[in-house]
Amino acid sequence: NRQLVLAERPEGEPTKDTLRLVEGTVPAAATGQMLLRTQFLSLDPYMRGHMSDAPSYAAPVPIDGVMQGGTVAQVVTSRVDGFSTGDYVLSFSGWQDYALSDGAGVTNLGKTPSHPSWALGIMGMPGFTAWAGLTKIGAPKPHDTIAVAAATGPVGATVGQIGKILGCRVVGIAGGPEKCAYAVDELGFDACIDHKADDFVEQLSEASPDGIDVYFENVGGKVLDAIIPLLNPNARMPVCGLISQYNATALPKGPDRMNWLMGQILRKKIKMQGFIVFDDFGHLYPEFAKEMGAWVESGKIKYREEIIDGLENAPEAFIGLLRGENFGKRVIRVGRN
Ligand code: NDP
Repeated sequence: NRQLVLAERPEGEPTKDTLRLVEGTVPAAATGQMLLRTQFLSLDPYMRGHMSDAPSYAAPVPIDGVMQGGTVAQVVTSRVDGFSTGDYVLSFSGWQDYALSDGAGVTNLGKTPSHPSWALGIMGMPGFTAWAGLTKIGAPKPHDTIAVAAATGPVGATVGQIGKILGCRVVGIAGGPEKCAYAVDELGFDACIDHKADDFVEQLSEASPDGIDVYFENVGGKVLDAIIPLLNPNARMPVCGLISQYNATALPKGPDRMNWLMGQILRKKIKMQGFIVFDDFGHLYPEFAKEMGAWVESGKIKYREEIIDGLENAPEAFIGLLRGENFGKRVIRVGRN
């Protein structure tokens, strides 16, 4: 049983020394337990929080503890009612080949799910985050302008596509011309601006001639700086993530602009609300699953995955995710089938 354990807490960006691969025996299921074999491991930005002991909604993983994470696994042996050998399950097995579970918090996906890994993406936590944050907090009306960064990732791509279904203008922000072309040509965004371009601020302003009514916040940093002046009165800002800050070790240099920001919020009557998807909207998951299932089935919503083989490649793939090297939802195929 290979496991990736936290070797040390990273200062800034995680490195090759942050996690360590260890090998142990495969555990056996006792009464009331089942043995799960990981097939797919989800890589998500929030996992950076697990590596630190700073206050976060992602509780710190102890040193030498197995990294936590969402997985799609297969039942090897089961002594839990409702689960049998061969079932695919959505579980939180973490970064390892095998895990024991008592079934708590585990969803049975059946023996033949059409796209097992999608439970980690469009039909799971990231897709749900996009749907709940946009529709319940962003509350867009037809013809509103929505802006969203990390526009080709599982959250941002879904936010933008839902925005189009709801009749909005959608402006994406992504890293590089290839991602931007994909957002416009494949996902149907009205515009997508490369945040690495020298004239990013000007381009963003030109792409938002009527201002911005909903800014779905995924990244913070210089993207947020560029968005604030473009927000319309009564704009809504679901605060979903701040990935540009996850590796930060100090506040940014320069003058303290907190009072400027508060002034903008006051004068423009901006509504800003943070959320943690399952804490705040968990009861709406069935409604999401029904609506998203139909959109995906009909092709109204597209989903791009980037599958990387091998548990041993997960640390490097995670470091790359925080740098924006992923193009679509990054998933590790762990199973050796
Ligand atoms: P992605 O797969 O989109 O990966 C993150 C992307 O962020 C990168 O690919 C990169 O895209 C972009 N990025 C990284 N650094 C920067 C930077 N400095 N400036 C601008 N963009 C940057 O991630 P997800 O779709 O899984 O998650 C998106 C956000 O949603 C994250 O902040 C995450 O923490 C948050 N989240 C919050 C949840 C909640 O309940 N609140 C639940 C799930 C996710 P690019 O190359 O295009 O810039």
